[in-house]
Amino acid sequence: MQEFIIEKQSGMGWKLSKGQTITVIDIEGQQVADFFAVLPEDHKDFLCPGNTILINGGLQLKPGAVLYSSSFTPLFKIVYDDVGRHDLLCPCCSAQMYKLMLKNDAYHPNCRDNINGALRQFGVPEFISIQPFNIFMNMPTTPDSLDVSRPLSKAGDKITLLAETDVLVAIAACSADFGECNAGVCKPLKVVIE
Ligand SMILES: [Zn+2]
Repeated sequence: MQEFIIEKQSGMGWKLSKGQTITVIDIEGQQVADFFAVLPEDHKDFLCPGNTILINGGLQLKPGAVLYSSSFTPLFKIVYDDVGRHDLLCPCCSAQMYKLMLKNDAYHPNCRDNINGALRQFGVPEFISIQPFNIFMNMPTTPDSLDVSRPLSKAGDKITLLAETDVLVAIAACSADFGECNAGVCKPLKVVIE
């Protein structure tokens, strides 16, 4: 068993073998974890929330649900979940998103750069845009609206995913330090790999 701390506004990456589990723990509560995965033998085949929504038939994944890649390769199965509210629609925050939303040109730490940085060690080319599984993100939807709300996760809440194949995974502790996404405060996360 290996334990890791992802410091606030940063990211980490690992290569998992089929059958290993990865547990993401919200240490302090109300902190989003952007979770992304790439196949080690084909970097053009990566986590696809659209395919995952289609095959699972909904926007909320329950234990037993499988996350799929662009080629419909099963990547992970959710085997444990304390929270039951996550998001598959929101792209990773990016430097350009913060420039647009904050109306200034200062560099803001962001999940896209942190995930690209975490995957660089495995030779994965940088992605211009990343669509992750946003663990603990609470974005209630209606047919006409999205509403970024405070996560429902409390201190110590966790989710465990079982690798269905050998896979590269990167996780970023979301860098949004305003609004409701992380309840206005960026915090660290803990990851356990078994
Ligand atoms: Zn983010």
